[in-house]
Amino acid sequence: MTSNLMIIKDKISTAAQKSNRSEKDITLVAVSKIHVEETILPVLKEGHRIFGENRVQEAVQKWPPLKEKYPDVKLHLIGPLQTNKVRQVVGLFDTIETVDRPKLARTIARILEEEGKFCEIYVQVNTGLESQKAGIAPSEADDFIRLCRDELKLDVVGVMCIPPVGENPVPHFTMSRDIGERNKLSNISMGMSGDFELAIENGATHVRVGTAIFGKRPGY
Ligand SMILES: *Cc1c(COP(=O)(O)O)cnc(C)c1O
Repeated sequence: MTSNLMIIKDKISTAAQKSNRSEKDITLVAVSKIHVEETILPVLKEGHRIFGENRVQEAVQKWPPLKEKYPDVKLHLIGPLQTNKVRQVVGLFDTIETVDRPKLARTIARILEEEGKFCEIYVQVNTGLESQKAGIAPSEADDFIRLCRDELKLDVVGVMCIPPVGENPVPHFTMSRDIGERNKLSNISMGMSGDFELAIENGATHVRVGTAIFGKRPGY
């Protein structure tokens, strides 16, 4: 039987080839937020290991038992992060994709140092300048990346964006890629179930796909 995961991987491969890239250059982050263990387990059994969660409270309950069975799982935090949750996050997540303000960056740097831990960091950019959305303003992104990388010595690997709902995402993808390129960051996290192929054609290295793998989230 062809699984959703296989279908998505196939589409990633096709989109990569279309822009003369290799499927190996694209990492699939399977967004398992809201979904329960029984829904996630089949995807783990198929061999997938990189997952995205957006709520700290949910992830710290759900993932420790799963990580006991699958110790090589890598977790990406893709939702907003409050400074008082940073210690929990660095104990569970390998990557924080949503670093978007100096206070948060400073707290992460301090706690990583205190705990002797290591996390990859993405700077989230609010490409649509939406007031309700997290992310640093595009005009402040270069300075913020410099602060995180040069002053705080964080391991900044990339840029992440969530384009405004209902808008053509391409200008947002392009802006994110430009910010990444001019700051010499290798990873660009963008593209969800509805637009991951377009994101890949516009330079995504990491796509965050939930619904197309796990189905509709319960209660949504
Ligand atoms: C939920 C979520 C996704 C996945 O969305 P789907 O449309 O289900 O693929 C991707 N990125 C972020 C930041 C999310 O919160």
